[in-house]
Amino acid sequence: MNQKTIIKLLLDLEANLQRKTEDLLRLIKKYRKTDGTHFSYTEIIESYKQLAGTQGLSKFKPQLVERILMKPVRTISGVAPVTVLTKPYPCPGKCIFCPNDLRMPKSYLADEPGAQRAEKNYFDPYLQTTNRLEALYAMGHSVEKVELIILGGTWTAYPKAYQIWFIKECFRAINQFRLKNDGLKIVEKYQKFQKQFGENQKKWKNKAFLSNDAQKNKESMVSLQIKGEQIDAQGKDNYNQLITKYYLEPEKALGITEYQRATWQELEKEQHINETAPQRCVGLVIETRPDEIDPQSIKDIRRLGATKIQLGIQSLDDEILRKNKRGHDVATVRRAFALLRQAGFKLHIHFMANLYGGTVAKDKRDFAKLFKDQDFRPDELKIYPCSLIETAELMRYYKKGLWQPYTHEELLEITSFTLTHTPEYCRITRMIRDIPSQDIVVGNKKSNFRQIAEAHVKTTSQKMQDIRAREIRNQKFEAKEIKLKIKSYQTQVSTEKFLQFVYQDKILAFLRLSLPKAKRNEVFTELDGAAMIREIHVYGRSLGIGQKPSEKAQHFGFGRRLIAKAATISRQHKFQKLTVISAIGTKEYYRQRGFSDGELYQFLTL
Ligand code: SF4
Repeated sequence: MNQKTIIKLLLDLEANLQRKTEDLLRLIKKYRKTDGTHFSYTEIIESYKQLAGTQGLSKFKPQLVERILMKPVRTISGVAPVTVLTKPYPCPGKCIFCPNDLRMPKSYLADEPGAQRAEKNYFDPYLQTTNRLEALYAMGHSVEKVELIILGGTWTAYPKAYQIWFIKECFRAINQFRLKNDGLKIVEKYQKFQKQFGENQKKWKNKAFLSNDAQKNKESMVSLQIKGEQIDAQGKDNYNQLITKYYLEPEKALGITEYQRATWQELEKEQHINETAPQRCVGLVIETRPDEIDPQSIKDIRRLGATKIQLGIQSLDDEILRKNKRGHDVATVRRAFALLRQAGFKLHIHFMANLYGGTVAKDKRDFAKLFKDQDFRPDELKIYPCSLIETAELMRYYKKGLWQPYTHEELLEITSFTLTHTPEYCRITRMIRDIPSQDIVVGNKKSNFRQIAEAHVKTTSQKMQDIRAREIRNQKFEAKEIKLKIKSYQTQVSTEKFLQFVYQDKILAFLRLSLPKAKRNEVFTELDGAAMIREIHVYGRSLGIGQKPSEKAQHFGFGRRLIAKAATISRQHKFQKLTVISAIGTKEYYRQRGFSDGELYQFLTL
């Protein structure tokens, strides 16, 4: 059935090859698989390679692949995203909605695209990074500016030496890309571990080793997988216990734990190379829980080179947090925000709707609080209505009739509310987690619900003003009509200035300037008395360094102008220095703009 649909899709693409890329992407979205989901770009290309010259399709045309793969959306913000998953490992959380897939780090599902890539690469950071860079490069994307997004469970719960090794290997892969490839050596290493594990099967009965063969892993883990409805109220036989039981002992005995370690010095060596490498890490994102945030964990995260934190807050209602066994309260979220903001991190929040004990009204109230209350006010958001997954403890609640998924109308109400109640300084990066439909027991299976909600909002008098709704993308602009707009807002620890270059209602570039209220910084003494640039973002296609400048926003000097304005504002507010939370790969950029290196930040004397 899917085969017939994809042939129709390919014929349609062939017939419309002369149209704009955006039209072709829209055309692709018209076709759905039997389970209601869309074909991935990889599926389309793989099918095209196999079917070209048959089924009424003409001979293979490379332009067709190029047109589809050059999809502008992926690097529209000028940066190539590389998502990498950590290995399965115990998480301090016991959240009832969280999947318990023993083949995955906590909260991830083996069928998700990024997760599949991780499994095929032994969850190894070097292999995953190289693999993803190769894929992007093969699609014609520039990979000179890379944003590393590290996902999987709770980052800070992993052993420190593993964290350092993981990031070091990501940097090493970026540094070596297209110059040298140690991938084969690394694969051989894992194969050797696997062989040794196989030879000791007797000794390690009931233990597990994840190979790079998803099917094999699925078969060997099938009897061990958790059934969510059987997790008892004490959480017996939960993910953490089973991961410890199955994996940790062989990992130690085989020498994997030892292999997956590095020192700060080893990491710093790779970071130093990356500062001037052909491919640079211009952003590093780490995912953790609010109660894992304290001054020391922030110092470590920053030393790794992170610039943004993904923080799962899920709800701003203590009762809902308790009922869902989050293990922290709202006060902890407030404290985490205050500390992270003082350290200059961009705050990317996960907010959930439809949690156990929640209602649409409560979700709306909490979402509004996220921006009304000055203790929060995040920079970016992921809005994930709860999905019921077979391995999650929530199954037990569902079976007892204690939890129900929202209806289509309820989901539309809350998602539309979030779209229209997110202020102009925040970006909704994702709405609805892209969970493969076969993994969802009940509830919404439409991964394109954001489009549905956006279309709904457009039929009302309300407006969406979040950053994503206003990005310039490929739209042309009239240079003379560009204006600088400044939006000020208060947080518990700072006055925030959101500087943005806009053309009509579109945003071309922005800078987040933080003016701390206290002279002393609670986390880093080097930040005492300094104004802080938390982010600069200039939109435009990811043009390569040295490529010919064009009418794209990235070549209008917006970055330089925004920094100059930030310096002026900081001076007016009597700050004597302006600091920036630079990524490893943006240090040179700031040096060229007069900033000097501090310990973990860069400074401009005002
Ligand atoms: S903290 Fe995150 S990963 Fe851990 S159980 Fe809760 S939702 Fe899952």
